[in-house]
Amino acid sequence: MISIEEAISAVKSNTEQAKEISVETTNSLGYTTSENIYSSINMPPFQQSAMDGYAIHFEENINEYQIIGEIQAGQDPTSIKLKTGEGVRIFTGAAIPKGCSSVIQQEWCVLNSKKISFTRKIKNELNIRLIGEQLKIKDLVLSKGSEICPATIGLLTGIGIAKVKVFSKPRIGILITGNELISVKEQLSPGKIFESNSHLLKNALLKYGYESISIYKAKDTFKETKHIAEKAINENDVLLISGGISVGDYDFVFDALKEIGVETIFYKVKQKPGKPLFFGKINEKAIFGLPGNPGSALTCFYIYVLRHLSVFSKTSFPLNFIKVKSKDNYYKKEGRGEFLKAKIENGNATLCDFQNSSMLKAFVDGNSLVYLSENTTEIKKGDVLNAYLLL
Ligand code: AMP
Ligand code: MG
Repeated sequence: MISIEEAISAVKSNTEQAKEISVETTNSLGYTTSENIYSSINMPPFQQSAMDGYAIHFEENINEYQIIGEIQAGQDPTSIKLKTGEGVRIFTGAAIPKGCSSVIQQEWCVLNSKKISFTRKIKNELNIRLIGEQLKIKDLVLSKGSEICPATIGLLTGIGIAKVKVFSKPRIGILITGNELISVKEQLSPGKIFESNSHLLKNALLKYGYESISIYKAKDTFKETKHIAEKAINENDVLLISGGISVGDYDFVFDALKEIGVETIFYKVKQKPGKPLFFGKINEKAIFGLPGNPGSALTCFYIYVLRHLSVFSKTSFPLNFIKVKSKDNYYKKEGRGEFLKAKIENGNATLCDFQNSSMLKAFVDGNSLVYLSENTTEIKKGDVLNAYLLL
């Protein structure tokens, strides 16, 4: 059995490389750029008014300007040329006409029979956005390896970039095992429980921007487990298997993966919850055998699966690892690390009830996973703890 730290670094070092793909800029949120992106236009592309007001041909000793027309945003200004003593009504974003050297905001202007005068001292070069003041043609907009956020999408579409080259995200299969499982839409019957891990894992993936998800189901037989696992591996880059990885007589995942030819990177980790975690690979594809207990499956998702997916897609690991103060006392066994669900408020962590690995309620009540190392045996109120914020 290996330690949590060894397992995390094995997951990281056994992650294949994403491919470079081209995606619509409008659908690129959360991807990482695979090349430098340069601007092909000036931004703004023409001189613009930064205010609603009057565009004038400013001259030092003129205090009154004749308003000879109007330019709205979107309007072609080329028919207008301002001469001495002239101005036009203008609006924010509208193109500055020839001969204009200053825009005076309307709050400073008094209009009287098509002439404007001013309530303040005005000057030249006011309120004009210059061509290329944000970006010039050939300027670097984003360097390779940048994560695309909403502002990036606004900036790129704003300079007319409709497609971007990014590192792909993996296609992810979720294989659910367990004869006891029925759909949430069915009626409970003796011995059965509602299947929840497919929904749990799928939505955990969606939350972090992984949208290519296929769900598979297999009964607890060696034959079916092997057959469906093989199909799911063929159709995806990463496979998450739920359940069947423990030591019970009907846990066939390990043997099935072995027979398919999956190389074991590790099997079993010195941790609570999630001890039976399996990680392997075949043909550059990663396979996680997650324990079926929902609390364990979700813990392993956050600590290992999410790490793998981030390395694959070259995005940053989305969970912040922060220091918090314990509000509780807690005792644990030496020799295995523990992840405890906790509620962090104002830098203080309160351990949740219902920590059992079969339960999800503590995840719902809390907002973090406190990490206790193998060697830790007790924590006391006021101790500083390390925790992953699950946001
Ligand atoms: P296993 O890892 O297959 O031994 O399952 C461990 C526990 O998790 C058992 O109580 C299962 O019934 C439960 N379990 C397994 N898979 C799921 C699932 N997809 N949804 C809800 N509970 C599950
Ligand atoms: Mg099972």
